[in-house]
Amino acid sequence: MGEIRQIAIYGKGGIGKSTTTQNLTAGLVEHGKKVMVVGCDPKADSTRLLLGGLAQKTVLDTIRDEGENVELDRIMRTGFGGTRCVESGGPEPGVGCAGRGIITSISMLENLGAYTDDLDFVFYDVLGDVVCGGFAMPIREGKAKEIYIVASGEMMALYAANNIAKGISRYAKAGGVRLGGIICNSRNVDRELDLLRAFSKELGTQLLYFVPRDNIVQRAEINRKTVIEYKPDSAQAQEYRNLAEAVINNTNFTIPTPMTQERLEEILLEYGLMEALEDDYKI
Ligand code: ADP
Ligand code: MG
Repeated sequence: MGEIRQIAIYGKGGIGKSTTTQNLTAGLVEHGKKVMVVGCDPKADSTRLLLGGLAQKTVLDTIRDEGENVELDRIMRTGFGGTRCVESGGPEPGVGCAGRGIITSISMLENLGAYTDDLDFVFYDVLGDVVCGGFAMPIREGKAKEIYIVASGEMMALYAANNIAKGISRYAKAGGVRLGGIICNSRNVDRELDLLRAFSKELGTQLLYFVPRDNIVQRAEINRKTVIEYKPDSAQAQEYRNLAEAVINNTNFTIPTPMTQERLEEILLEYGLMEALEDDYKI
């Protein structure tokens, strides 16, 4: 039996980390993989689509209400296709260390024997605007050795991705943490595919997959389901299956080479703004 692939998903808030992680998980489940998803965002919405909207009490709330001596089934719920779902939880925004939930949850899951040998994947869906302290926990402690950054062609998403890569490179040089690639969650920006390819290359990694933007994702979300569960025959469901396959088959793991702000803006100009200017002024 192989080692559990523990994967951290980072990216700017609102970029689509939780949606993509859960849809990717559904794709992996269809491949017969056993998956655990650990939400590491105080928003605690990392497992909602897998659980059919069932409100999942966070680990921190459970400990607060029931004490430290809890059974595993108090903090881990079973979702779509047998996925194991955990929400770390965290303090209200701006109050206390938001990383504490992650640290507490991982050690609790370890103590309660949640990381069983039959697991193929564990995903940590991490709020990615900050790669400090607790947020870096899954990679800092060497739990997750594999990282994907979710990004799009929007400047702030790439800015955040580059910052996250800076954080990763620090831990990668010191340990076994590696970047497995960029997952583009499209915002339908002009020349987005080319831009993301260029950005990934400059970062010393690959564009692992380009997920198109499709309103079916939101319709599935309103119905509290992944796209694969909601509309298994849709084109978008197939995209997530392809993403799952790309993750399964990935062998490209690198230490990222983050770029300067100037270089990032150069690339943006080359692939984004210049094109827009040409369109506007018919240069
Ligand atoms: P994050 O976890 O990074 O904060 P979410 O996964 O919550 O972001 O996604 C934010 C919103 O974007 C959600 O409402 C989701 O439905 C929408 N979304 C994500 N991916 C797509 C997509 N490929 N097409 C359309 N909408 C998407
Ligand atoms: Mg999220």
